[in-house]
Amino acid sequence: MNTASGPGGAGAAAATLWPEGFRAAVALTFDVDAESVMLASDPSLAQRTSLMSHQRYGPQTGLPRILRLLAERGVRATFFVPGYTAEQHPGPIRAIRDAGHEIGHHGYLHELLTGTDEATEREFRRLPGGSITEIPVSWALDDWEKYAFWPGVTGTGTIERPSLVAEHWWEEVLAYAEEGACCVITMHPFLSGRPARARALGWLIDKIAQHGEIWLAPLCEIADRAMAA
Ligand SMILES: [Zn+2]
Repeated sequence: MNTASGPGGAGAAAATLWPEGFRAAVALTFDVDAESVMLASDPSLAQRTSLMSHQRYGPQTGLPRILRLLAERGVRATFFVPGYTAEQHPGPIRAIRDAGHEIGHHGYLHELLTGTDEATEREFRRLPGGSITEIPVSWALDDWEKYAFWPGVTGTGTIERPSLVAEHWWEEVLAYAEEGACCVITMHPFLSGRPARARALGWLIDKIAQHGEIWLAPLCEIADRAMAA
């Protein structure tokens, strides 16, 4: 979803879509992929114990750190959880629920939709038209492109400095805010849950809060506003 402007201008669009006093929205979203994203692409990766450990860091260590950071700031976020992750790490996933965050469906084993055939696509579309709202994401606002690197598996080898990532995203958020739009930041606890990166995320959340006119909300609340408009 992008609410940007039209003839009435960004201010007019924001006034009708976002809660009073806010001119734009930001959603902090976390894909709790853990091992599933690797196993979905190649089940034999289960034999690579250091890679599996790298992925388990997400629910076991990164996620608790992120939950603490959000609780300290009174911010609610959206967590997308594959069924496999919930089975393997039930305690951390319950902690998301108990903290009052939104939990979204993320497949069972992080199934990739690239190349999905028409019959399967039609299965996904059985819900009545009008009952689904798409809230678009952007690769510029995804931590995978900033931080993910595992030799021979993913990433280019370039790992960005957390403070530069936070500054980049703040620049993006400010531009979205000028348009009265919705900005979705996509993160993964095994990446953004590491200490310096979580610290940088805290800095970004504080900047958003200090702005005063940007609504930080889980995706379900943003979708409700969009569908009611
Ligand atoms: Zn994912």
